[in-house]
Amino acid sequence: MKKFFLLLFVAFASVANCQHSHLCKHGQLQNNLVWSPKSSENDNKRSDTINIINYSVYLDFSNASAQEIQGNCAITFHPKQNNISHINLDLLELSIDSITQNDTLITYSYNDTLIQASLLSVLNTIDTATVVVHYHGSPQQDASGWGGFYFQGSYAYNLGVGFSADPHNYGRVWHPCFDNFKERATYNFEILTTNGNTSYCNGQLISDLVSGDTLIRSWEITSPIPSYLANVAVGPYTHARMDHISALSGLTIPVWLISSPSDTSSFTNAFQNLDDAIDIYESEFGLYKWSKVGFVAVPFSSGAMEHSTNICYPKAVLGSGIAYETLMAHELSHQWWGNYVTTESENEMWINEGMAVYCEHLFLEGKYGYTTYINNVKSNHKNVLLNAHINDDGHYALANVPHLHTYGDHSYKKGADVMHTLRSVMGDSNFFAGLKSIQLNRAHRTINSLEFRDELNASSTVDVTDFFNDWIMNPGFPQFSIDSFSVSPNGSDFDVTVYTKQRLRAAPSYYNSVPFQITLLDDSWAKASKSILLSGIVDTVTITIPFHPTVAFLNENDKINQATTGENSVFYSVSNLDLNYSEIRLFVDQLDDSVFLRSEHNYVAPDGFIDPSGWNAQYKLSEERYWTIHGIFGNNFRGKMRVFYKGQSPGALDYELFNDGGTGIFHEDSIRLFYRSGAGEEWTVLPNCTVQPAGNPLDGYGYINTDTLLPGDYTFGWISGPVGLNDQIDKKEYRIYPNPTKNVLWIDLRDFESSNYTLTINDLNGKMVQSESSCSSISLLDLSRIKPGVYILSVMDQSKFILSEKIIVH
Ligand SMILES: [Zn+2]
Repeated sequence: MKKFFLLLFVAFASVANCQHSHLCKHGQLQNNLVWSPKSSENDNKRSDTINIINYSVYLDFSNASAQEIQGNCAITFHPKQNNISHINLDLLELSIDSITQNDTLITYSYNDTLIQASLLSVLNTIDTATVVVHYHGSPQQDASGWGGFYFQGSYAYNLGVGFSADPHNYGRVWHPCFDNFKERATYNFEILTTNGNTSYCNGQLISDLVSGDTLIRSWEITSPIPSYLANVAVGPYTHARMDHISALSGLTIPVWLISSPSDTSSFTNAFQNLDDAIDIYESEFGLYKWSKVGFVAVPFSSGAMEHSTNICYPKAVLGSGIAYETLMAHELSHQWWGNYVTTESENEMWINEGMAVYCEHLFLEGKYGYTTYINNVKSNHKNVLLNAHINDDGHYALANVPHLHTYGDHSYKKGADVMHTLRSVMGDSNFFAGLKSIQLNRAHRTINSLEFRDELNASSTVDVTDFFNDWIMNPGFPQFSIDSFSVSPNGSDFDVTVYTKQRLRAAPSYYNSVPFQITLLDDSWAKASKSILLSGIVDTVTITIPFHPTVAFLNENDKINQATTGENSVFYSVSNLDLNYSEIRLFVDQLDDSVFLRSEHNYVAPDGFIDPSGWNAQYKLSEERYWTIHGIFGNNFRGKMRVFYKGQSPGALDYELFNDGGTGIFHEDSIRLFYRSGAGEEWTVLPNCTVQPAGNPLDGYGYINTDTLLPGDYTFGWISGPVGLNDQIDKKEYRIYPNPTKNVLWIDLRDFESSNYTLTINDLNGKMVQSESSCSSISLLDLSRIKPGVYILSVMDQSKFILSEKIIVH
């Protein structure tokens, strides 16, 4: 499935409009059983003892205006073990009228979540049985607002997962089932509708039975599906046929676009590239195996849900042309990833959702070319590095994402991010052959991360064991860079020995066997690219090239999504440019005929050193990021750059740096840009920089302009303690006391020459709460009108900043 937030306000409105008027909490108890279930069985274990063969669901929607359904579900099953006397079924807060087996009432318990039904006799593995649950009620929506059963105007439909439900599988809101990923059964549906409404379900339409204004439609899906992929959609529907001739097989794939008649033309327009999407995925993963491609428009505006052959798709975006076609492609791709081969557990949702987001990229590549693909991969990668750990409240292994973040950035965006790297590690032919092999070998089955790995290993000559250990089974990212290189002549060629270093971002151990492209250039722009395999904290590789290089860097073509984003630029004239992947603004003020620049933004601590006895040692360096500039500048080059510091809120790139647990005094004038020409050099403050607070000098946001641009590394440093505007080492004594305080604060500035101060108190959001002038070097502030809390006292002499300090008011 896919959620989106663009339309969230619509979603809230629609949820608010269809709150259920009551909850059915009156489940009947005919309980002579001691066992008392408390919750649904949130695992695949039941499917090891009983195999459900078929669900036959009959539902009557004639009372849809009261948001009620009534009907029954016949569950046909056979035991996988002997001596089975009960069957446990998930069903959420509906009312059970009776349960029968062979037309005989059987006893059961039901706690609004789980049914335990006693079978008429003990069953063994040679037996097959059918129990029929008769039920009615008002089906539930998920508390998150995403998933469950919806009644909206003439429409009624389910979305098969609940974002906050546990388990997330949500077939149980409308029929009794084993609500897990492993159990798969065929489905038959008979859906009774009135008032001109029709029903659409998974699979094929078998029959329409019309009687007055009552319609009973029968549907059948003969491919087994898990309960969360079952779907019923009722509404004023018709469907348009856009049948597709498979480029791979030449066979016709029925395509049904289901909507109200008034939406049909916008639907077919919005899906004009569906044919391409089907062909792209068939060529990459194998033939489409389902009986139809079906999309049904529903008035749910916060995303789409990939029910097999009956994908619920937001009606609200049909009028937007192809603007949402990656959503179309995402949901279509689930018919391979998620529906045909399904994640074994919610913790490994990357197998469903990371693959589907990666399939969006693959659709764009197949339709619009590699440049569109790689631009989307890069954009997603930057987004993951900046936001995934913030949005998901931590760094997780893709194979072990906690329940709360099943549908978070890691499963979706980092899953896709890592698939791009896997493709680079395996090479295209191995990668796609491996994915096809998984589709064949795991058809209609679950798969976990290690099985995914083993399938790829079995299908190709590339061993992905290290890859899965590093990138899937553990959190974080590596960051490889070239520390230095040496060159020695070798006949008419040159041996270049490259010394690399690996740093880690939120990862527990160093990555191994990562294939990088290394690019070497000389001053006349002769260029060589080679593939090298890097492992461990440091590595050394020697390559032979036909020229003496002056510049060397890794990953020019972004094949490996490591903890760096960067780009190459060529300048032919005086210009300035935002380089978004390297987080800098570049100014070229003077140049020869052209300038080559490789700029990188690294999302790791810039290890290295500051002489502990030197002046620079009073600074703390960023542990979050640093920049690297490579270039062939020419003799007459003059340029500079601007880098933004971003410490304004928790999670911002420099927030940790500015909140290092020091004295708590903060002013942006104390931020410095540090520089080293290479990884072996000491970090030193870059001279002649200008700090521009960009508004409030206490909010942690602004930028630094350099007056020159040099190849090398850059990072931020920050000094704890009062710093003057122009002379950061001119420390003068002062006293501010008592701190913490209740209602008064003394400020003793006798060490300063001036006697004309402005004393300002801001809250931590930068809002001024008190400001006073003082003509004395010792001042007394009355804080009795200030609410208890933490504040920043700033002292200015005329317009000159003197100091700021954190104060606590009880
Ligand atoms: Zn999805």
